[in-house]
Amino acid sequence: TDIQELLLSRIRDVPDYPKPGVVFKDITPLLADPAAFTALTEALAELSLRNGATRIVGLEARGFILAAPVAVRAGLGFIPVRKAGKLPGATLRQAYELEYGTAEIEVHAEDLTPEDRVMVIDDVLATGGTAAASLELIRRAGAQVAGVAVLMELGFLDGRAKLTPELGGAPLDAL
Ligand code: IMP
Repeated sequence: TDIQELLLSRIRDVPDYPKPGVVFKDITPLLADPAAFTALTEALAELSLRNGATRIVGLEARGFILAAPVAVRAGLGFIPVRKAGKLPGATLRQAYELEYGTAEIEVHAEDLTPEDRVMVIDDVLATGGTAAASLELIRRAGAQVAGVAVLMELGFLDGRAKLTPELGGAPLDAL
């Protein structure tokens, strides 16, 4: 579609970043283009409402940049899922595997209740580890998953397969 072409034209491939052999998808040109950023925000907000979301979760750090305007646009509250140690209140914490070692993410426990239907938003789905851990947090909080939406899915890493069991039938959309 026209929107997909616009978005794709504003994503820059950076070879050998952050290390040799990796092609990094840089979204800063998209963020700097108001037409593209607005189109992305509107598409993600529409998707979230279509999925019946009542809350928008953004994944630190680039997910925050996308999810916050989506939450405002959709008229829903924004909830940050942060790297461990950044949130001041009582949290739920979830560890997940990285290529080398593990990482941990957290959410304020009081931000998610069983009444909430949560839409998770991030820029890139790579191995799916980060998104899967966030769905685990939502499930442990007793909340429902409305879906996961990302700007880009790196299909060759097959994050979709890792995420499918955690989605419990909820949709994963990549614009
Ligand atoms: P995953 O956990 O392997 O799916 O990695 C996804 C996380 O890493 C997301 O939070 C992304 O922001 C980040 N990420 C991985 N690859 C890229 C990339 O090429 N560009 C931007 N972010 C990336």
